[in-house]
Amino acid sequence: MRIRHIQIFADVLRASGPTLAREYHSLMTAEEHEFPSEAARARYAAVVHAVGMMTDTNRFLAGLADLGYEAGATASRAPVKPVCRICGSEDVSRNATVRWDQDLQDWTLTGMFDNATCDDCGAESDALCDWQAVERPPAPLEPAVGARVRIIERSRIGGDRFKGREGEIIRQGRFGFYVRLDMTPRERVQKVELVEAPFLTILSLPADPVLPQQDTAMFNSFQRQCAAVFGGGDFAHVTTLDEVRACDDTLFTFLMIELSGPEDCTDLPEAVRRLEQAQCDIQGVLDRFGEEES
Ligand SMILES: [Zn+2]
Repeated sequence: MRIRHIQIFADVLRASGPTLAREYHSLMTAEEHEFPSEAARARYAAVVHAVGMMTDTNRFLAGLADLGYEAGATASRAPVKPVCRICGSEDVSRNATVRWDQDLQDWTLTGMFDNATCDDCGAESDALCDWQAVERPPAPLEPAVGARVRIIERSRIGGDRFKGREGEIIRQGRFGFYVRLDMTPRERVQKVELVEAPFLTILSLPADPVLPQQDTAMFNSFQRQCAAVFGGGDFAHVTTLDEVRACDDTLFTFLMIELSGPEDCTDLPEAVRRLEQAQCDIQGVLDRFGEEES
């Protein structure tokens, strides 16, 4: 199984733009697939998309365009939803079987029927689902130290004298955020007001927030793709080599080290050469065992 992963990974890295475009299309549209979950399928599709963009951009995009994708419409890791092919409704369901699990003391899903049914128009078919992208509204900004904010009117006896005032969050307290208000021409000292989060409109976040992704930047693109695809995406969460080692999968650790920057894996041909070398080494051992068997 592990060797199969190396092979798939190497194949993806080597494939041409048009091939990757077809693979991406098939991943996004296949009614049946071998992935354990829709999330795993989306992760793998994102890897294929990323490799296409990285290795053979123009031909990959041309391939996608031929398949009816609009430029820019194929965001990686894009969430999808099933829509009825007949009427466009999102109320599509599939029947499934659950069985009682004595160990878990709960019902667990043991099977799912291919047939999908539209609750709106009543259509039924194995190919009813048209997988469409989910449009998500942008996440509201969360208050943070350094953010520019405006105070929304609070209910106060005699009115909220700070309503509409703007300023900067300087500290987070137990009951809200301390906002250093911009001074008005008449003020002599700068005021700080404690405001509960629901009464803050975030105008902008700090220009240079501390990014928690600094760790991720330690991985080069080959390592990120490897983590995303290896084992069906089981280890896609890793951000450091320590976390890789903690996964306790020696082959995964080996690949992540082989593909690392400090090991001078800087370009695609080198990444492919290393994987092929590893594949060769494993094959050599397999061949040897084969000889002993016979
Ligand atoms: Zn329908």
